[in-house]
Amino acid sequence: MLYKSTRNSNVKVSSAEAITQGISAEGGLFVPESIPQLTPDEIRAIGDMKYADRAAYVFAKYLTDFTDAEIRYCTDNAYSVKNFETESIAELAHLFDGTYMLELWHGPTCAFKDMALQILPYFLTTSAKKIDLDKKIVILVATSGDTGKAALEGFRDVEGTSIMVFYPEDGVSPMQKRQMKTQEGGNVGVCAIKGNFDDCQNGVKRIFTDNAVKQKLDDNGMMFSSANSINWGRLVPQVVYYVSSYAELVKQGEIEQGEKINIVVPTGNFGNILAAYYAKHMGIPVNKLICASNINNVLTDFINTGVYDRNRAFHATVSPSMDILISSNLERLLYIMTGENDELIRDWFGKLASEGRYEVTDDVKAKLLDEFAAGFCDDEQTKATIGEIYREYSYTCDTHTAVAVKVYRDYKAATGDTTKSVIASTASPYKFSAAVLEALEGKTSDIDEYAKVDRIAELSDIPVPAALAGLREKPERFSDVITREEQEQYVLRALGL
Ligand SMILES: *Cc1c(COP(=O)(O)O)cnc(C)c1O
Repeated sequence: MLYKSTRNSNVKVSSAEAITQGISAEGGLFVPESIPQLTPDEIRAIGDMKYADRAAYVFAKYLTDFTDAEIRYCTDNAYSVKNFETESIAELAHLFDGTYMLELWHGPTCAFKDMALQILPYFLTTSAKKIDLDKKIVILVATSGDTGKAALEGFRDVEGTSIMVFYPEDGVSPMQKRQMKTQEGGNVGVCAIKGNFDDCQNGVKRIFTDNAVKQKLDDNGMMFSSANSINWGRLVPQVVYYVSSYAELVKQGEIEQGEKINIVVPTGNFGNILAAYYAKHMGIPVNKLICASNINNVLTDFINTGVYDRNRAFHATVSPSMDILISSNLERLLYIMTGENDELIRDWFGKLASEGRYEVTDDVKAKLLDEFAAGFCDDEQTKATIGEIYREYSYTCDTHTAVAVKVYRDYKAATGDTTKSVIASTASPYKFSAAVLEALEGKTSDIDEYAKVDRIAELSDIPVPAALAGLREKPERFSDVITREEQEQYVLRALGL
């Protein structure tokens, strides 16, 4: 299996090269040259495996340059009860008639990003070894909360790597800030930026592309890499849990082998739902992929009209991990849907960069509507949904997951579609405790973050994840706050250069 670049189909690299490079030199994203297939027999067999083996089975089809032993090394280190609070790794909760919550937040940082970021460090170091890249890998991350913490936990004390995370001083939840400031590990760094998420992200991009900095790292046996979802090594682990959940439903007798399901995904950067698309095209029977957005609803409009237009106000919401106006992974979907037309991709994404807008062809519009449904909801509807689900089913979900539940309910009411559905549940409700508690109690409260956690624990039957409960006692290790201008010097100093 080779990987092509979405902006130049002539670029073909191995998976080890795709993972170490992160992004292709001309700016394209790497996609597998074909989508490997799973037969019904294979899907049935996967149902009898434990999660790490399910993952290894799927990876063997994509990472064909990895040996079985290399894949096992990665999966065994990542998907064990050492890192996850549940044996099943990705827990399926039966919510209400024909609806299943795929809980992807039982990992060390209580958000679905762990599913990929627990394994990415092993993919990266294994890939680097395979292609004789004898360099220390330096990961720089700009985060609005979840990715940074998940990357820190994934890379902490992984030999041959170091990681530095930048977050906007006032742009993350109190719990997210505590999680990052108390991070343990000998190869980690965390620093707040006086500015917003874009300032953090632009700063990191500037450092990444600065040739003088690159040279300095090279001279000292180091290289930069990315833990962002543009990296194929972050996407392929996400395909696994959709395959796994289908096989599991068949095994448990909830669905017949071959029966179609809907998959509902609360979406930001389009990584998680693209993984569901790959699972479908590998052979998992799927009716609709339902893309749920908050009021930053650029994707709802795109799927329904074929026009992508980021020229709109940016809103800070109670589902901050979906506050995004440029969904990078859409580029991969459009490359596939245009029949790998790199010229069209260059044209559209060039327009996105220069005018903030592009419109796809009628053929692609039809394909989008055939595969996807899309909807959005606002903060009031999000909180109302958390309250409804709690009262109707005694189930407490986080704000991002609630967006998906609301959009799914609207879809079901509008279409009458009763296909059984899997909803991706992307974060622990405790991570966004202010909005969740307000939804459960029907009023805001000014008790502190930990008191809110305790109160949610009293109200719901979901235990407080050990990783969040333990934060209370942990000492803060990182308190630096710098300006954007200081970012580059800060990184060089931290690396001892
Ligand atoms: C990152 C994130 C999302 C959005 O996922 P994408 O892959 O960016 O679409 C949704 N919910 C939570 C809790 C997240 O952390």
